[in-house]
Amino acid sequence: MKNYQPTFAFVFLTLSLTLSVPAQKAEAIEKNLREHVQYLASDKLEGRRTGEQGATYAAGYIANAFANYKLRAGSRGTNGKPNYLQPFPFVAAVSPDKGNILQLKTSSSEGEISAEVLWSPLAYSTDADIPASPVVFAGYGISMPGSTYDDYAGLDVKNKIVLILDGNPDAGNPHSEFARFNTHIKANIKANIAKEKGARALLVIATEPDFKNDRLSSVSYDQTFGTMALPVAVVDRATGARLLGLSDANTLFALEKQVATRPAGTAIKLQNPVNATARLKIAMIKRQSDAYNVIGILDGHDPVLKNEAIIIGAHYDHLGRGGQGSLDVNSTAIHHGADDNASGTSAVLELARQFAVAKENKRTLIFIAFSGEEEGLLGSNFYVNNPVWPLEKTVAMINLDMVGRLKDGKLNVGGVGTATELRALVTNTANGFESKTEKIEMTMGQPTKTGIVSSSSFFNLQLNEDGFGPSDHSSFYGKKIPVLFFFTGTHADYHKPSDTFEKINYQGLSLILYMVSRIAGQLSQAPTRPTYTVAKSTGMPGRTGFNVSLGTVPNYADSSDGLLLDAVRDNSPAAKAGVKAGDKVVKLAGRDVRNVMDYTYILGELKAGEEYEIVVLRGSEKLALKIVPVAAARR
Ligand SMILES: [Zn+2]
Repeated sequence: MKNYQPTFAFVFLTLSLTLSVPAQKAEAIEKNLREHVQYLASDKLEGRRTGEQGATYAAGYIANAFANYKLRAGSRGTNGKPNYLQPFPFVAAVSPDKGNILQLKTSSSEGEISAEVLWSPLAYSTDADIPASPVVFAGYGISMPGSTYDDYAGLDVKNKIVLILDGNPDAGNPHSEFARFNTHIKANIKANIAKEKGARALLVIATEPDFKNDRLSSVSYDQTFGTMALPVAVVDRATGARLLGLSDANTLFALEKQVATRPAGTAIKLQNPVNATARLKIAMIKRQSDAYNVIGILDGHDPVLKNEAIIIGAHYDHLGRGGQGSLDVNSTAIHHGADDNASGTSAVLELARQFAVAKENKRTLIFIAFSGEEEGLLGSNFYVNNPVWPLEKTVAMINLDMVGRLKDGKLNVGGVGTATELRALVTNTANGFESKTEKIEMTMGQPTKTGIVSSSSFFNLQLNEDGFGPSDHSSFYGKKIPVLFFFTGTHADYHKPSDTFEKINYQGLSLILYMVSRIAGQLSQAPTRPTYTVAKSTGMPGRTGFNVSLGTVPNYADSSDGLLLDAVRDNSPAAKAGVKAGDKVVKLAGRDVRNVMDYTYILGELKAGEEYEIVVLRGSEKLALKIVPVAAARR
């Protein structure tokens, strides 16, 4: 039921701004924003980590506000009654079960030596109970097609347990061909390699002399990856040395060097090889926890247009007391997340309040505070797969993520290429209000002062076409919904405890809010919905950088039977291959794909311009398609 006449752009120019709210002094708006940010970024909320108490407090605060503004609850509770909270499944923590076992026997010391072994299963490890099996040393555990470096050269690891060093032979060089083995999460790549070589499990020797500080022993579960291909555990350096027949942990350094510098293609030679076997039993307990999106609905008043909705959203979760995602390594201080993203959340609350007072929106407005964003867009991903409003009647999504640090007027707006009308809408609404440092007075829709300077220079707009990006709007664009993404840029406090309440530019935030209110207002009043278009990709890599791109947007939910694709970019290699959103990838380049972890690994091995087979499940059909990856930017 789309009506493309008259054109949307024309409508914007001629549409009178019908939203008229009693004048709100800028000061009052700033005060509201400040109160929200102050509470959300307070110590009490402990950084609002998804699944933790602080995030639940935040959800309650937002739900209360929605109720005060008399929004309609967007979800339902388990009792079937309307509820602002939309729960979604979340694994808060993974811990080793009692009764996990690592038993080692070496020819030099018979018997169980587990009392002296410091070890830990990786949070991503698969569960397994492996009988005593020979241990084989495989250097850094790296073997890549096209590289002369091969830690598996001359080794038979079939049905054995592979012992490796952490890191890579070219440590510290970010441009190394081994760079993708640098980050801790890339242990998954080594697990995939070991599995392909036929190994039963992987033991990794810690890099830190003090085991409890080792990065692998402290790796926490990542929702977006699922489990590894194999059981994987990390052992302390003393144990590693013993298994390698070395006198003590200090001599490991010499071995690391020797492994890295041996001639290409040659096998690793140990000075005093020992016969070692290991028995490994790993079971991990996944602790489910509460996580919620908060949804409030303001129904439109036009009898027809009210069936269409515009979503205004922001994520309210942050990083808790650090850990995964923190840029203050090893910090356990509260990561306040004032800019990221109490700022966007406060704007959504204030917008909800203003629109609810005005009650002039013809289309329905849905306000959503998402959780699980920092863990991989979990909340928005859940929403688009469990929407409270039909997606085909959801005409646009506006996302505010980090909008509290406006500096020199520099405002990033993404998604302007996702509907034909959006670029003009954004540019036009950025104009028309005053750039003076004095506080401006605002109403919804029009400045109260006469003779106001139409200032296109207040905002220094940085427009970006792409609808995909590192925040929740990506989930919606994946469903072919036009999106806009507001962002004032990263800064020195990004993802650190120092992202605090008093550093927010509240005047700037209120100006952005004002601009967004004009955009949302106009979208809600226009006779026709925005016209979805395929945006130019900026080639921005996703959360992990790949050498090649297929143009697929994976679903980040845990899986073991294939990787569900939430979206496929138009004109991408995947689209050309015939891959579609909703397909489940089960094989790529001849390898099994169980989840994102496998997919990441295989992508890293592919070469741009070469043809590979991709096998997908579509309903009951199994399709083998030909795909040719293109080169992708790397972060
Ligand atoms: Zn963040």
